[in-house]
Amino acid sequence: MKYEFPVTRTHEPKEKPDPDTLGFGTVFTDHMFLMNYDSAAGWYDGRVVPYSSISLDPAAAVFHYAQEMFEGLKAYRTKNGDIQLFRPDMNAKRTNVTNERLCIPQIDEELYVEAIKTLVNIDRDWVPDRKDTSLYIRPFIFATEAFLGVRPANQYLFAIILSPVGAYYKGGLAPTKIFVEDEYTRSTKGGTGEAKVGGNYAASLKSQEKAHAKGYTQVLWLDGAERKYVEEIGTSNAFFVIDGEVLTAPLEGTILPGITRNSVLALLKDWGVPVREERFTIDDVFRAQEAGKLSEVFASGTATVISPVGGMLWKNKEIQINGGEIGTLSRKLYDTITGIQSGEAEDKFHWTVKI
Ligand SMILES: *Cc1c(COP(=O)(O)O)cnc(C)c1O
Repeated sequence: MKYEFPVTRTHEPKEKPDPDTLGFGTVFTDHMFLMNYDSAAGWYDGRVVPYSSISLDPAAAVFHYAQEMFEGLKAYRTKNGDIQLFRPDMNAKRTNVTNERLCIPQIDEELYVEAIKTLVNIDRDWVPDRKDTSLYIRPFIFATEAFLGVRPANQYLFAIILSPVGAYYKGGLAPTKIFVEDEYTRSTKGGTGEAKVGGNYAASLKSQEKAHAKGYTQVLWLDGAERKYVEEIGTSNAFFVIDGEVLTAPLEGTILPGITRNSVLALLKDWGVPVREERFTIDDVFRAQEAGKLSEVFASGTATVISPVGGMLWKNKEIQINGGEIGTLSRKLYDTITGIQSGEAEDKFHWTVKI
């Protein structure tokens, strides 16, 4: 192996949570991965250590100007007990795209995947085995240098933490209600919309609160310039089935290039379903619904995989999609992707990586 990392094991292993009542992102495993960067030394001292708090100087740059990025992926336990990742090379690539935008130094992608594998292997007993459960993996990088000037930092920490997570939909896959945000925006061309940076999410909380207060689960984002074109749903990519054709926003710098999105497109093309990655407006969507041509809406992302949408509110107009029921394509995509991840369906694209 090209990369090997020293491991310091914990002397106080924690009690594992009940796999039947797991939530999302509240329980963390026994170990974490850390690696430092210094502009003189480059990335150095990659290591696995007991999970613990981190001490930082109050002047650490991340606290002031938010030079921070993150990723999200999962490890799955298959029926025969193997543990596998889903397309981790894509997270490594996307990390470097985000890093480039935030002036964070590039990381060797092989090292990145090896660090994930090493950590998950150490905490492999934490990968839950119930249906639709997994071990969520959160790599993140932030500026640690103590200074208050606005410039790229000279020191960073790359960390990976792990969290066992439950089925997102407790009672099985269920349609959500979406609030179309026409006041605040998340992204404009030339901004940071296509980068997975913490600041984007801080700026989105206000809209999420608005949606929740109105009784909606998620926000649908429109483009930042005209508030007209459909972009994303919350922290997921958005798909619309209109007249038998699947529409999704193109990767032109304002939306996050989801790995689930990429997988959905590959599957649809493989199944011969017509897809278009093109700009379309929220008005197109509502008019298609009026004309009886909007058959399904769904969101895609690592946390939920596929999340069917049952209703949408835009200005004062509320529409129901597919009678509030899960669409056939949404169901098929969910079953296929989760099947590949859990090792139950054939992985013809070679997306999974065993640990
Ligand atoms: C992470 C994320 C997605 C989904 O990406 P996946 O790689 O599929 O998990 C979509 N939109 C936003 C804004 C995101 O942060």
